[in-house]
Amino acid sequence: MNKKENACPVCCTIGQPVENVTVRHLVKKELMLSVDDNSYWLCLDEDCDVAYYTETKAMFRKDDLKVPLWFKRDADPKYACYCNEITEEQVIETVVNTGIDSMKDIINAIKSKANAQCRVRNPAGKCCTKAFNEAIEKGKDIRDN
Ligand SMILES: [Zn+2]
Repeated sequence: MNKKENACPVCCTIGQPVENVTVRHLVKKELMLSVDDNSYWLCLDEDCDVAYYTETKAMFRKDDLKVPLWFKRDADPKYACYCNEITEEQVIETVVNTGIDSMKDIINAIKSKANAQCRVRNPAGKCCTKAFNEAIEKGKDIRDN
């Protein structure tokens, strides 16, 4: 494979591989059938409009998705956990106002019933832990300073 094949066709940033089952669940309903069996990459550049692309340069833009990509600059809302639809703001508020700072306790404080469906809910097809922990750290900074 040519090493440029996993670079975003628009911003040329090297993307993160994502299973097509994840892409299929996240694009808008009318686009589901356009998701083929190719490998997809997620463009991680915060300023680029591209969400997913293939090595044949097929792509979906962030507006083609049902949810905002948390790492894009204008994401609104910015989800810390896609499975439970918990925003970064909710995590920060909970950390600041309740003193809780473990991911599990925060999820329980916000949602009565927790879900874990990262493969089909998170745009990276993986656990939301990293974004969640970053939100906890932001909350702790506000709380402890
Ligand atoms: Zn890009």
